[in-house]
Amino acid sequence: MDPQFKKILQQKRQNVEDLFDFEGCKVGRGTYGHVYKAKMKTSGKEYALKLIEGTGISMSACREIAILREISHTHVISLQGVFLTHASRKVWLLLDFAEHDLWHIIKFHRPKGGKKSVPIDTKIVKSLLRQILDGIQYLHSNWILHRDLKPANILVMGDGLERGRVKIADMGFARHFWAPLKPLADLDPVVVTFWYRAPELLLGARHYTKAIDIWAIGCIFAELLTSEPIFHCRQEDLKATTPYHHDQLDRIFTVMGFPHERDWEDIKIMPEYKRLQEDFKKPSYVNFASCSLAKYMDKFKIRHDSREFSLLQKFLIADPNKRISAELAMDDAYFREEPYPTDDVFDGKPIPYPKREFLHDDEHEEKHDKNKVRHCVFIFSPEIIQI
Ligand code: ADP
Repeated sequence: MDPQFKKILQQKRQNVEDLFDFEGCKVGRGTYGHVYKAKMKTSGKEYALKLIEGTGISMSACREIAILREISHTHVISLQGVFLTHASRKVWLLLDFAEHDLWHIIKFHRPKGGKKSVPIDTKIVKSLLRQILDGIQYLHSNWILHRDLKPANILVMGDGLERGRVKIADMGFARHFWAPLKPLADLDPVVVTFWYRAPELLLGARHYTKAIDIWAIGCIFAELLTSEPIFHCRQEDLKATTPYHHDQLDRIFTVMGFPHERDWEDIKIMPEYKRLQEDFKKPSYVNFASCSLAKYMDKFKIRHDSREFSLLQKFLIADPNKRISAELAMDDAYFREEPYPTDDVFDGKPIPYPKREFLHDDEHEEKHDKNKVRHCVFIFSPEIIQI
């Protein structure tokens, strides 16, 4: 590096702790990062500061920064800046702060202490789904796959200018899919959290498509309607290095029925097809196309002749080529019948959900069982930050 440039840069650098208050304000932990609620000292404005796990610019941090810097959409979280430090080789992302997320909203509605669950308001569900689709349609039309859609990654803004707006977050797994030099599966063999993983991924698809995000949206939609993960599988093998997962497939087949060649022509060319046939020799499941999903949803009072059920079915089609696109889904009759979706998903009413709690490291390990903070000195990167 040019010594003069290096000197100027060093003079400009600031300590992140001088710019923001965030000590003790950890609000979330993911697979690759720790998220803090931060208040800018000068303006008092709130942000989310995401500390990337480990040191240096990991593949996931690199992707997330590269993609977030390129995109701009109402329903995708906005990157306001990046902080880097030479001394400790840490990376921080400065993002808009979202008070809620679907993981917490759904948890709020789950049955507790023997009490029956109260479903999420149908209008809120519709508005949430419409905005998720809008954000994903934007990503897909810009040749970006999210690849890790799940309730924890769908944020919702609290009171303020953007009240009740969905923001799709965590682009650590996202990537461009236009003309990849290698099959995407060779580059990243395991994508999407198990419960939201499409059947083609579980069967080892090498050239997966936008349809994997759509399947995940179907799972999220079902979860919003029922407050339970539709393809909940007890045995999550977190260290799995292959996408095939017997128990997850079993769960999908139990709810949806077993897919036959007439429903999904290419199933026989899936890399794990042989294993599927061996593991599921005498399938006790009904046919995929039958009304198995209808029976499951009926338990949650979602009728098979309702518009919401009809759309849900289009997201959860086994054959990825037949699965609906985000664009078509946004145009579905479900959104054209009352109650109409609103820009503020809470429709101006008081927000019934609690605000984010601050977490202590140990407490969070237990609470979320998901995903660890070290305080270091961070150096302001004037090349990237734009507050
Ligand atoms: P990872 O990339 O490590 O999985 P995430 O980006 O998913 O990390 O963040 C982990 C958790 O932190 C999320 O599930 C969410 O609850 C919270 N979080 C993430 N981004 C924000 C944000 N912009 N505002 C508020 N909370 C956030």
